[in-house]
Amino acid sequence: MRYQPVIGLEIHAELLTDSKVFCTCQNEFGGSENTRVCPRCSGLPGTLPLLNMGAVRLAAKAGFATDCTVNNYSAFDRKNYFYPDLPKAYQITQFEYPICTDGHITVTGGKDIRINRIHIEEDAGKLVHDDYEGISMADYNRCGVPLIEIVTEPDFRSVEEVQDFVEQIALRLKYAGVCDARMEQGSMRVDVNISIMPVGSAEFGTRAELKNLNSLKAIGRAIEYEINRQSEILDNGGTVVQETRRYNDNHGDTKALRSKEEAHDYRYFPEPDIPPVMLSDEDMEEIKNSMPEMPQIRFARYTEEYGLPEEDSRLIISNKDFSDFYDEAVKINPDYKQISNLMLVELLRHLNESEKSVLDLPFSPADLAELVKMSTDGVVSKNAAKDILKIMFDNGGKPMEIAKNNGFIMDNDASGLEEIVNQVISENADSVESYKNGNQKVFGFLMGQVVRIAGKGANPKLAKDLLTEKLK
Ligand code: ADP
Ligand code: ZN
Ligand code: MG
Repeated sequence: MRYQPVIGLEIHAELLTDSKVFCTCQNEFGGSENTRVCPRCSGLPGTLPLLNMGAVRLAAKAGFATDCTVNNYSAFDRKNYFYPDLPKAYQITQFEYPICTDGHITVTGGKDIRINRIHIEEDAGKLVHDDYEGISMADYNRCGVPLIEIVTEPDFRSVEEVQDFVEQIALRLKYAGVCDARMEQGSMRVDVNISIMPVGSAEFGTRAELKNLNSLKAIGRAIEYEINRQSEILDNGGTVVQETRRYNDNHGDTKALRSKEEAHDYRYFPEPDIPPVMLSDEDMEEIKNSMPEMPQIRFARYTEEYGLPEEDSRLIISNKDFSDFYDEAVKINPDYKQISNLMLVELLRHLNESEKSVLDLPFSPADLAELVKMSTDGVVSKNAAKDILKIMFDNGGKPMEIAKNNGFIMDNDASGLEEIVNQVISENADSVESYKNGNQKVFGFLMGQVVRIAGKGANPKLAKDLLTEKLK
């Protein structure tokens, strides 16, 4: 690579408040057009904004989740521009005094990406274009939906760093209950600023801003495309112009939307109708204490204290409810590895196949902890434990009772098993012959016969030893 990409992100996240940020309209996705609007959020003259403190709390949580300084003092400004989806002709945002500043997130490779600021703002509405009628219509349902914007420093140097950061942000916001972070639904939107410079250079190039990226894959493809586009320009002796470009996922390319010359002069000024936001140190403590343990802390606990592989740990934390379930189970039976194994292989498969969440399970973490203990204590075999889990998954119930009712309790009576082994050997003379002639595969078949007769309670190790012995 002759050029080094330099990347910075601006991420918008919709806050999970019940109502909008400056009025009492419901904050909910979807619904018929213009059914969640009132005089305030549709920008009628004479109305006044009323700040939703729930949005402030969530923005502060986003700050704590990303190691920002959450400021005691922040304030709102008006950003003026005219567009049909913005009925007031200005957006209320935080310009001079954002609520959070100076955070960071560590990405793959141990590098720190600095977060410049997180501020609160209101979302705009949506335009619905009817190409057939040749008209555009405005839907104001999204007007006044509370957002935070997270702005990073231009610290990224690769697609991998960007994708890791976006994944981590999404997960932390979900854990903290700030945002559901569904990129494909637009509740979290990532804009990528990207420039290139010759490798070894210290001077950043001119950047383009990429919009309309609604998945990690799209982010990767858009960055790759943009690196190539800008490289070609520089190779041909041209200069990159600062502009906003729209990414098209169907074509895998980016097209200019507007250049810097057309950029708005927003004429920011302090919003006169909203008093500054003051958070006391006690408020801060209270908000901080209401937050759950963050995923990166869990990851460290799983890998360092519990000795789980990184891949397994990542998979567990990727869903907070699943991770909560795991934590409850290991509190009761600290067999970290076995519980992780059963949950990540068997339980996760059943959940995926039935499209259920751990919250739907008809058994508790304590039941799962007990099942694993029964298996490690040799009360039931490993295979029986899997069968018991499936029964618990389908119908609920206590593992010990299920084991008893289904004959899963491991039978360690060697003489009974020996009889069965003898019976199988005499009834399958051909297979025994074939085994003795070197066909190893037949062993599995013979074991299957033993288990079929002895039942699920058969001690598999004992059966295997006996069969091996008899076949000698
Ligand atoms: P502005 O004041 O013009 O909005 P900012 O300095 O606030 O610019 O940066 C906006 C976004 O662009 C940030 O995410 C920042 O990291 C990124 N950015 C700034 N300069 C560059 C650059 N030369 N190359 C890539 N990204 C950049
Ligand atoms: Zn409203
Ligand atoms: Mg800026």
